[in-house]
Parts: sequence; structure tokens; C-alpha cells
Amino acid sequence: MQGLLEGKNILIMGVANKRSIAWGIAQSAHRAGARLIFTYQGERLEANVRELVATLPRQDSLLLPCDVTKDEEIDAVFARIRDEVGVLHGVAHCIAYAKTEELEGEFVNTSRDGYHLAQDVSVYSLVAVARAARPLMTEGGSIVTLTYLGGERVVKNYNVMGVAKAALEMAVRYLANDLGPDGIRVNAISAGPIRTLAAKGIRGFNEILKTIEEKAPLRRTTDQSEVGDTALFLFSDLSRGITGEVIHVDSGYHILGY
Ligand code: NAD
Repeated sequence: MQGLLEGKNILIMGVANKRSIAWGIAQSAHRAGARLIFTYQGERLEANVRELVATLPRQDSLLLPCDVTKDEEIDAVFARIRDEVGVLHGVAHCIAYAKTEELEGEFVNTSRDGYHLAQDVSVYSLVAVARAARPLMTEGGSIVTLTYLGGERVVKNYNVMGVAKAALEMAVRYLANDLGPDGIRVNAISAGPIRTLAAKGIRGFNEILKTIEEKAPLRRTTDQSEVGDTALFLFSDLSRGITGEVIHVDSGYHILGY
């Protein structure tokens, strides 16, 4: 897979620490030759991301702050990319957020504020980022976001985030239709559960992992590198005919009806 992304510039949004799915994607893309641009959510995470990026074999990455709830920060990121990198070929959107109290109990108790926040950070951000990336993707492009089975079926405690993921998957289809004529593809990876910072907020997460190990066709959970390599495929020309798709990378768990 070495060289598949040679000469491509890829934006990685959502690295928080070494367990982040975004970091798995970054490692796969870097190994395949891409130049990476990272965004991190505020100063609190900057040191973490700098430390991780320093471990990459080639030191050609650009690091920029971006809180996706702030339009001016999104604008600033893409202005810097335009000035310093020029053409953008890919975006990994690995960002989601819901308040911890919305990720337990009954979905019917979701607050208006909690609903809006989950949709804003986890869904609208993809729309805003795709719009900002479009003028920089002059050689065609590939945008990849991350979703979960809880957006298709009811998964205990996933609640407001499940509804956000359903909206995200539909946003992928509308964006794919809008940007397709510009040669820009938009797809989602539906990852199996992985122990990350975001996953810690979901009550009963350990039980979910155990069920996957017992029942998924591959009888094991998913790891970051499997998602990373699928993103690499989606960024590369190997996937040039695929857009508006949701690819499950979950050891096959989603096919089960029991
Ligand atoms: P993570 O905690 O490592 O990453 C989530 C990222 O979202 C963090 O880097 C955080 O800084 C960022 N973020 C949150 N609010 C933000 C904001 N306002 N502005 C900018 N960034 C913000 O966890 P992860 O599991 O790697 O999550 C990445 C994506 O993968 C999410 O969309 C998540 O829903 C999805 N996903 C995770 C799993 C899993 O089991 N871990 C499964 C399927 C899908």
C-alpha cells in the first residue's frame, strides 16, 4: 500500500490521543505517502497531538486548531491550508460529541440543548467542512467520516448520538450528490466499537465489546488500523467509483439478526 497516496494532501480532524480512530487513519495515510494536516480541538489537546505527530517518520505535517462549532476557526483552517499547501485531496472527519448524561437512560428524555449540540458537533460540522474543502479540492477529492451501527438500529444508551449518526449518514448522501460533479467523493466508515476517549462516555461499553467478541462473524473487535486502512482505500484511486456509501468495518457484526 506504500505510495498509494504519494503527492496527496490529507486533512485529519479529530485526533485526541493515540487511541483515536483519527490517529489510526493518520498512520495509514502517512505510510501510504500522504502529507498530513492535523486539526485539534483547542489548546488542551495541542500537546497530545504534537507529541504523536513527532513520532511520524516524515516531519512534513501542519498542525492547526479547530473547534468545529466556530465558523471562524473552520474558515481560518482552510485559509491556512490554501496558503501553505494549496490543493487538498482528502479529509478525515472523525469528530462527534454528546453530553454524557444524554448517553444513558431513555432517549425520550433527550434535552433540546443536548440534541442541538450533538447534531451541531457531529453532523453539521461535516457539512461546513465539506463546503470549505470544496474549493481546495481542484484535483478531485475524497471526504471520509465516521459513523456507527447505532445510527441504523437502536443500540442501548447510544440515544442522541444514534439519531446524529443517522443524520450524518444521510448528510453523506446529500453531500456526495452535490460534490460528485466536482470529482469529490463523500463516504462514511461504520466502525465497530473501539475503546477511545469518546467511547468512554457510553454506559455499558465493555458489554458491547464482549458481545462483538462472542458473536461477530470474525469473533473479534475492530481496531484503529483496520479503520485506517479502509480510509486509505477511500482516499486512494482504488475506490474511485465509490461515493455516498457507508462501509462497515466491524468484523461483520452488522449482518447479524440475533
Ligand atoms: P476520540 O475521542 O478519540 O475522538 C473524538 C474527537 O472529536 C476528539 O478528537 C475531539 O477533540 C473531537 N471533537 C469533539 N468536539 C469537537 C469540536 N467541537 N471541535 C473539534 N473537534 C471536536 O474518539 P473516536 O472514537 O476516535 O471518535 C472519532 C469518530 O469515530 C467519532 O465520530 C465517533 O462517533 C466515531 N466512531 C467511534 C466508534 C468507537 O467505538 N470508538 C465507533 C464508530 C464510530
